[in-house]
Amino acid sequence: MTIVFKPSDNVKQMMIKYYEKYSKPIPPQYTVFQAFSSDVVITLYESGKVMFQGMSADIESALWIDQEKHLNNRIIKIDEKGKTKELTIKDEIKTFYNISTIGSDEVGTGDYFGPIVVSASYVSKEMISELTELGVRDSKKLTDDKIKEIAPVIMKKIPYVSYILDNKSYNDLNEENKNMNKIKAILHNKVLVNLIESGNYSYDKIVIDQFVYPKKFYEHINKCNKKISNVTFMTKAEDQVMSVGAASIISRYIFLKKMDEMSRDLKAKVPFGAGTNVDEFAKKIVSQYGKNKLKELVKLNFKNTNKIEQ
Ligand code: MG
Repeated sequence: MTIVFKPSDNVKQMMIKYYEKYSKPIPPQYTVFQAFSSDVVITLYESGKVMFQGMSADIESALWIDQEKHLNNRIIKIDEKGKTKELTIKDEIKTFYNISTIGSDEVGTGDYFGPIVVSASYVSKEMISELTELGVRDSKKLTDDKIKEIAPVIMKKIPYVSYILDNKSYNDLNEENKNMNKIKAILHNKVLVNLIESGNYSYDKIVIDQFVYPKKFYEHINKCNKKISNVTFMTKAEDQVMSVGAASIISRYIFLKKMDEMSRDLKAKVPFGAGTNVDEFAKKIVSQYGKNKLKELVKLNFKNTNKIEQ
């Protein structure tokens, strides 16, 4: 088995020191050292690459790949053929990726059926690599099955707060408050404040996946009792900030469970979104249970309501 990867400078220095007593007194051409450790040959090239050759190359290299993870937050994977692959993190987002953050994200605001769910989570620097390995990425790119698999694991590992706005409560809001951006702003503020008050978390930044201009956000939460401040607003934050990614997955998971419950109650698969298939489904619900039933299932001020009445 042969495994090759390019170690970071700090890991390289550790290797040189560690393998000193196992190395050939005179290194072969183009190498920094060549060492023999039980059944593995370790060669560090001047080019910066290190090669592990032999029966236990995977075990030997794992020691250093682990160091890369803990010291440098580099995630290096080896496939069954010994090929290495690194999960790349764009340089410009590295600064956000490697810090402790509190972040929030919501789902359900574009769905006629189902509640609005907003979550905030705290991810410390130390948890980042573990969550990366679990597959925490933009929840929009993860399948629902994958979300159902990893969300319960994430929820055990990190502190989070979620809020579910059911449709009965949504429909009962007065016209002034039934503004989607205002609802989102108030709920993001709520889960963030509650999370921060729930523990003594050390964080560098609070990040919200941006849905409105910051000035407007603060206007919307103006009347709230407790207000969040110093927020970094970022578009596509769920890809770039681990706590927003985790919050996105948790929100989606709770939303999926609520949709599953609704499907069970109605004995039919409730559709997502607000397209024509949703109109068709809503029409069936009205003919089966009457129009009043919709009040607890859908967001009545969506255009779909007019369409199903025709
Ligand atoms: Mg979002």
